[in-house]
Amino acid sequence: MDTTQGRALTPASADIECNGVIDQLQPSDAVVVVDIQKDFCPGGALAVPAGDEVVEVLNRWIEQAERVGATVVLTRDWHPPHHCSFKSQGGPWPAHCVQDTAGAEYHPNLRIPQIAIYVDKATEPDHECYSDFAGTTLGKQLHDKSIKRLWVGGLALDYCVRATVLEGLALGFEVHLLKPATRAVEVKSGDGQRAIAEMLAAGAFIEEAAS
Ligand SMILES: [Zn+2]
Repeated sequence: MDTTQGRALTPASADIECNGVIDQLQPSDAVVVVDIQKDFCPGGALAVPAGDEVVEVLNRWIEQAERVGATVVLTRDWHPPHHCSFKSQGGPWPAHCVQDTAGAEYHPNLRIPQIAIYVDKATEPDHECYSDFAGTTLGKQLHDKSIKRLWVGGLALDYCVRATVLEGLALGFEVHLLKPATRAVEVKSGDGQRAIAEMLAAGAFIEEAAS
């Protein structure tokens, strides 16, 4: 299913088909790069299938953001050793992205810009946070910079990307999901597609083109 069929294309988004969606990036936009960490990539503790394939796509967006003066947000899942989301503590996931461990590091090929907003989340032992806005100052920082639109990609589509997109919409941002820049865990088959349908219904734009 082509999910872009779910909403009417405006003339501006129709142009995207021809010019490249990445050319829409404005100084008042933010590119939000969710949890591109070793543990979420193949070989990691909580690997998202083909998770590393998004790095190259996101690097193009980060580079373009630097070029046009848009804001880049880089987030990390950043858990204390006994976080409630870990199986050892009764949670659903194997231990992953433990603070200051190799698995919590950014993927080595990820472009790290000179200037960015860095967000560490789910840092409290007893609180799970999938959204980059939950328990962080990200929303305030973006509003303070008068950011209007978010272009979101990263890992994983059906958890932290989903939650970030939905909360971004709730906070009043125009949110574009960069579909080629994200991959799903799919604990249950179809979770990724369901997450996209949910984002679309909540008002997100689903961008099918990689750049
Ligand atoms: Zn986590």
